[in-house]
Formats: sequence, structure tokens, C-alpha cells
Amino acid sequence: MTKPIAPRARKVRVLATLGPASNDPEMIAALYQAGADAFRVNMSHGDQQSKVAVIQAIRALEKRFGRPSTILADLQGPKLRVGRFAEGRVMLEKGQTFILDRDTAPGDATRVELPHREIFEAIEPGARLLLDDGKLVLRVAEHSADRIVTTVEVGGALSNNKGLNVPDVVVPMAALTEKDRSDLAFAVEQGVDWIALSFVQRPEDLMEARKLIGGKAALLAKIEKPAAIERLDEIVEQCDGVMVARGDLGVELPPQTVPPLQKRIVEVSRRLGRPVVVATQMLESMITSPSPTRAEVSDVATAIYDGADAIMLSAESAAGSWPVESVAMMNDIGVSVESDPMHGDRVHFTVMRPDPTTADALAESAKNIAGTVSAKAIICFTSSGSTARRVARERPPVPIMVLTPQAETARRLGLLWGVHAIHTRDVESFEEMVAKSKRMALRSGIAEAGDRVILMAGVPFRTPGSTNVLHVVRIVGDELDNYDLAAE
Ligand code: PGA
Ligand code: MN
Repeated sequence: MTKPIAPRARKVRVLATLGPASNDPEMIAALYQAGADAFRVNMSHGDQQSKVAVIQAIRALEKRFGRPSTILADLQGPKLRVGRFAEGRVMLEKGQTFILDRDTAPGDATRVELPHREIFEAIEPGARLLLDDGKLVLRVAEHSADRIVTTVEVGGALSNNKGLNVPDVVVPMAALTEKDRSDLAFAVEQGVDWIALSFVQRPEDLMEARKLIGGKAALLAKIEKPAAIERLDEIVEQCDGVMVARGDLGVELPPQTVPPLQKRIVEVSRRLGRPVVVATQMLESMITSPSPTRAEVSDVATAIYDGADAIMLSAESAAGSWPVESVAMMNDIGVSVESDPMHGDRVHFTVMRPDPTTADALAESAKNIAGTVSAKAIICFTSSGSTARRVARERPPVPIMVLTPQAETARRLGLLWGVHAIHTRDVESFEEMVAKSKRMALRSGIAEAGDRVILMAGVPFRTPGSTNVLHVVRIVGDELDNYDLAAE
């Protein structure tokens, strides 16, 4: 890498979902330039083959823009769906009877197939079945091993393969479907950086996925089931990153419970040092409109004030008419909120106590020193990325520049708050580390002559988990003179 470009002008990261509106390589580059730091490839839609070119296009950004790119493959998980209709779509009227059964014949306005045997066993009279993100509500009257008779409480149009939520009973579903296993193997083979698991209910769900991933990608847990809330701390502990998946969460639970849960999930994730993404409907109206509602802007701002690592676009960037504008809007909200003098205080409303480790003691000190001496950056040398994760957890007032010889580490860090990762050659000595930090700070525009930066590293080098050095240096300004930058 010869020309490390300047870091983003904000610390919160923008995660953009790709889809029909944005799978084209030029569009992906345009989203990147507008401010997308990481990309979500949604395995719920399209086949594996169609993702190969998309993944290649995201990776191609690295050469073009001189920065690592970050790819999250999102597994569909045990999402429940109804079968198909003879006419593709039916209208259900309030008060009518509607039957879900095991018959694979196309459905009509009286019945449809429900291809999930588990539900017929777990369901109970009086339970609700929510269809199409909760737009339609059915109440169970009676059921047998192959038939669920319901009364329509909220009617509307129902079309092929619409999603189904059963919030009132625990359905004993496997965490990974056959499709998920196949998609997971595909994602690992394609070298994605993160794999997201949908509808996590128990910490054990993550252990199985973790085994299959075999260390080749980081694992993100989507919190969208009431059962996951009950064991939140354990689940967060078992994963590498978290998503507040407000879409399904707000169907499974009353929507008014989602804001307090968002705050709690963000707080638990931050406390345990796991990057946390706030997702779904953030700029929903921008699917069809070039500007968002004020309420949506406020929602994005709230996630940033909560100290989330990343904010996500779903259909806005995947299937909407204004993908670039949506990303640009998130970027602009991030810049605006972070320039609010109260931003830091609000983010630190969540108090982070350091773990009793050397790495955390140094990370906390680096944050404090950065404020005291108005340093321009905290620069971390790391192989696994663990030092950078602990520094990001502190939410320091300056960018965290991460220098790592591991391309995988640089890529995975793309979801973390404030991190500007650079994949670069390793250093051999302490003196070399100091010299390199100064050069990289100058070249990326993070610091200028006269500025201070703070270095964190582990000595001796190449010993994982050895973070033990905190060093404050002043940039002179002549560090790039007579240096062969091509060798960096
Ligand atoms: P999805 O997950 O977009 O894959 O459904 C996010 C959510 O449910 O909010
Ligand atoms: Mn979901």
C-alpha cells in the first residue's frame, strides 16, 4: 500500500446493505465514496453464485482507494415463511377464518401451506401469528399435528413466501438451517470478514456457528428474538459483534419496547467490548424519497449519541431509488452529531470501567492522555486487533489508527468505532515503530508538524496479547524526507 488515504471525518461507521439497487461495481464504489465503511451481503436474497462478483467488487475497492474493505455476510437463519398462493397473492379480511396446513398445494383466501413442522407442535390456542413484518395478525383458534385454524384479527394482502413471526411461543428451531450451513461454507470460502447469524436465541447457537467458521471470519449475533434478550450478556460474550435487529425485534415484541432494548443492547455490547450495529428502518423513507423524515434523522442521531459502533442501511441502499443519497445522509448525520460539543459527554454517559488488564489500563490512559495533551490520534500496532478493540471500547476523543501486518485484521476492524485500519509491513524494533507511526500519521493527514500522537504496542513484537507500551511522540514534520514510501 503506497498511499494511505485520510480517515473518515466521523467515528461512527456506516454499514450499507447491497442488493439489486447497488450490486454493480461502480455503484459499490460510489457508496464507498459517499461514506460506506462496510458492506452487508444478505444471503436471504439471491443465490450464492450472484454474490461472487459482488464480493470481488467490494475487495476491488482496496486497490482503488488504498484502504481495507469490510464484508459482512448475513445468514438468513431460521426465518419462518408461509408457502405460495395459486394467484400469488390473496386478501385476508378481518374476522374470517384462515388455515395454515401441511398441504403443499398452492394456497387461496382460505388456506396456505406452512412448511415448518415445529410450529404445529409448539403452537397454542390464543397465540398470535404475525405475517409480513407484523402487518397481518392471526389468532390461533385450534390446532392439530397438520392444521392450525386461525381468526384474522388484522387483515390485508398476503403474498408468496411472506415472513411469519410467532412471538407468543418458543419454537424449538435449529439455529442454522441447511441453507445457512451451505451459505456459511460459501461465505468462508469467499473470505468474508464477518458472518452474521439471524434469530439467535441461545449462546449455544453461536458456538455451533463458531465451530463451522473455524476462525476464518468474525461472528456477529443479530438480536431479534425475545429469548435472546433473556440471555443477552451470555450471547454478547459468545460473539465478536452484535446487531440490534430492530425489524424482527419490533415484530416479536411491541415496538415501544425496542428503544429501551436498543439502549440496553448497545450498552451491554459496549461494556463487553463488542462492536454493535444499530439496524433497520433508519432512513426507511429514503427507499422512495431523496430526503429522509426528520424523525428518521433523529433516530440515526440517537444511535450515534448512544455510542453505537455502526449504523446500518437495509433496503435504502439495497433496493431503494436513492442508495448513494442514503449513505451520504448517514455520513452527514454522523459528522453533524460528532461535531456537537456534547457528543463526547453523551457517549460517555455509559461508563466503561477497564478490565483489570494491562491492555485496558493502557487503553484508558491513552484516551485520557489524548484529551489532556490534545493529541491527534491513538496509533495501535496489533496483529490480532485485540488492542484496537479495547481502545475503541474506550471511545477516545481522537481517531484510532491501527497498523497491522494482517489483512484479515485490518478488514474486520472496519466495523469498529473510530478505527482507521491500515494493512502495512510489520516493524522489527521499537525505533522503527515510532518512525513508522510518525510517517503514517503524516501521510494520512491525521497529524501535522508539531502535533502529538499516542502509540500503543506490545514489546517484544509478535507476542499476541502483550500490549504493554504507551508512548507519546511529537511529529517534527521532516519524517517523510528521504524515505522510500513504496517500501512501506
Ligand atoms: P434482516 O435483519 O434485515 O435480515 O431481517 C435485520 C432486522 O431484523 O432488523
Ligand atoms: Mn431480521
